[in-house]
Amino acid sequence: MSSDPHQYVISGLGGEVFENTEVKVSHCYQCGKCSAGCPLSEEMDYPPSMIMRMLQTGNPELEEKVLRSFSIWVCLTCEMCYARCPMSIDIPKMMDFLREKAIEEKKANPKAKQIISFHKSFLDSVKYTGKMYEIGFYADYKTRTLKILDDMLLVPPMIKRGKLSIIPELIKDRSGIASIFRKTIKKNKT
Ligand code: SF4
Ligand code: SF4
Repeated sequence: MSSDPHQYVISGLGGEVFENTEVKVSHCYQCGKCSAGCPLSEEMDYPPSMIMRMLQTGNPELEEKVLRSFSIWVCLTCEMCYARCPMSIDIPKMMDFLREKAIEEKKANPKAKQIISFHKSFLDSVKYTGKMYEIGFYADYKTRTLKILDDMLLVPPMIKRGKLSIIPELIKDRSGIASIFRKTIKKNKT
């Protein structure tokens, strides 16, 4: 066994986190500052410092719990934890990777269904118009979540007041946006 207390976890999920984000889970010394400052920590099943500890153990059962946790979906990427961490551990970057991994392995927490739908609808709007097209986004999100009629009464007044546009505004360089999406998808596949 190595005597180096900072040896990186190179196997298991902690190793994958490092390969994909350069976040070294073994550098966390459990001071708890991230959890104390996280505005969503009370909504999480495991606060950020506990996620770090679970990954440090390399225990497959705990890694499975991390991937299936709601915590990784509640994280807002506000970066409070990153700013407070004495070891400069980029937890939001790691959370982003864990979300991708959970989707890829079909292990996303069932409570995250609406969050994932919102995320997909938002990205589709940006992908096809280059910006947020609210009505298209709204219709897509409602269809995905099967909540078609919720908030429906708010739409006509908002259109009347010019807050929502029926026709999408398209940016000039849509091919540039398409190229970003292509490159990102390709990168995630390699
Ligand atoms: S980035 Fe996520 S984990 Fe970190 S403080 Fe914000 S919500 Fe909490
Ligand atoms: S603030 Fe940094 S070192 Fe402290 S518990 Fe959180 S991740 Fe670990």
